[in-house]
Amino acid sequence: MTVVYLDNNATTQVAPEVVEAMLPFFHDLYGNPSSMHHFGGQVAHQVAEAREKVAAVLGADPSEIVFTSCGTESDNTAIRGTLESYPEKNHVIISRVEHPAVLNVGQYLRARGYRVTELGVDREGRLDLDELREAIDDRTALVSIMWANNETGVIFPIEEIGEIVKARGIPFHTDAVQAVGKIPLDMAKSHIDLLSLSGHKLHAPKGIGVLYIRKGTRFSPFFVGGHQEGGRRGGTENVPYIIGLGKAAELAMKHMEEENVRVRALRDRLETELLKRIPNTMVNGDREHRLPNTSSLSFEYVEGESILLLMSNQGICASSGSACTSGSLEPSHVLRAMGVPFTAAHGSIRFSLSIYNTKEEIDFVIEKLPPILEKLREISPFWKDYKEGKPISSLVAGIHPEHTGHR
Ligand code: PLP
Repeated sequence: MTVVYLDNNATTQVAPEVVEAMLPFFHDLYGNPSSMHHFGGQVAHQVAEAREKVAAVLGADPSEIVFTSCGTESDNTAIRGTLESYPEKNHVIISRVEHPAVLNVGQYLRARGYRVTELGVDREGRLDLDELREAIDDRTALVSIMWANNETGVIFPIEEIGEIVKARGIPFHTDAVQAVGKIPLDMAKSHIDLLSLSGHKLHAPKGIGVLYIRKGTRFSPFFVGGHQEGGRRGGTENVPYIIGLGKAAELAMKHMEEENVRVRALRDRLETELLKRIPNTMVNGDREHRLPNTSSLSFEYVEGESILLLMSNQGICASSGSACTSGSLEPSHVLRAMGVPFTAAHGSIRFSLSIYNTKEEIDFVIEKLPPILEKLREISPFWKDYKEGKPISSLVAGIHPEHTGHR
C-alpha cells in the first residue's frame, strides 16, 4: 500500500542527502572530535562546519549552538539550567498550550515549590500579551513560550513577546521545535536568549537537537561531564547525527521558500476542499498566523481515533487531537485551552505536510476522506442527536465535564 504521510509535525522522513552526509562518520571518520590526533581533528573540523550550518538557519553565532539529544532535552536544559542560575527567583511563565516537554517541566517545578504561571489562549489559540505583562513580577526567573504550536501550527508573536520580557530584564526561552525550517528565524534581530530545536522535525534523524544560548546568558549545564560543547553539555558528541543535522539545516534554508509557497498551497488546497466537501468541519487556530504546513481540522460528532484508523487503512497517516487515556477520551490540552467544543475537539485531526508531499497525494486524501466521514457519522450517536436537534447524548457525560453540552 502506498503511504501518504501527512504527520510531519510528529516526525519527518530523513532526507536522502542527510543520510548520505552521515554515512562516512559511521565507518571511515569515526574518531573522537576531542582527540589530539589528526584522525579526531578532521572530525572536529566537520562538527564545526555542521555547527556553522545550524547557526546559519537561526541567524546565530556558531558559538551559541549547543548540540543535545532532542527537543525535550533542550527544553529541560533551558528551563532548569536558567532556574539554577537564578536561585533567588522562583517563578516561571509558560503557556497552557506548550508541548509536554515544557508543560510537564512546569508540573515538575510546581512539585518542588516553584510558582508556574500558564498563560491561556483565546478561541483562535492566540495569547493575550497583557496577561503576560501582568504575570511578570520581581521573582520571575524565566519566560518560556513556544514559537509555533505543534497541534494547530499557530505562530506566537515571538518578537513582541521578547520585547515585553526583555524590557523587564528577564531571560526568554522559546521552544522553536516546530518553527525551525518552516519559517525564517533570526536570532540577531530577536530578544530570545534560549531556543530549542529538534532534528527529526526537519528531516534529520531522531536523537539530535540543539539548544541555542545567546552569548552572555546566565546558564547552568544539565549534563555535567566533559568539556564538550564549551562545557555546556558534557558527553562525547553524537558526530554522525550532528553532521546530519548540519546538512538538514542547510537543506531547510534552501527549501524555506518552497515550504512557504508550494507546501502552503497544498495545505490550503487540502483544507479548502475538505471544508467544502465535509459538512460540520472547522479549522482550529488562527489561520493568518500559522505554519505553512499544518492544518488542524475538527470533524464534528465523530471520534478522531476512528477517522485515523479508517484513513490508516487507506495508507493515510495523520494525528488526532485527542488522546485515549485510562478509558476516557480526553481532547488535547491545546484544543481544550482554546475552548474548542468537545464535539469538535474529539473529532480533530492534524495534517502536517512536508516538501516531499505531492498534489496527487493531497488529491487522494481529498477523495478518500469524505466517504470515511459519511460512514462514521452514520454510526455516530452524537451525529444522530445533532441531526434530530436533540441535546448531545448522555454517552459523553464524564468525558470532560466542562465541555459536555457544548453544541
Ligand atoms: N516541542 C515541540 C513543540 C514538539 O512538537 C516536540 C515534538 O513533538 C518536542 C518539543 C519534543 O521534541 P523531541 O521529540 O525531539 O524530544
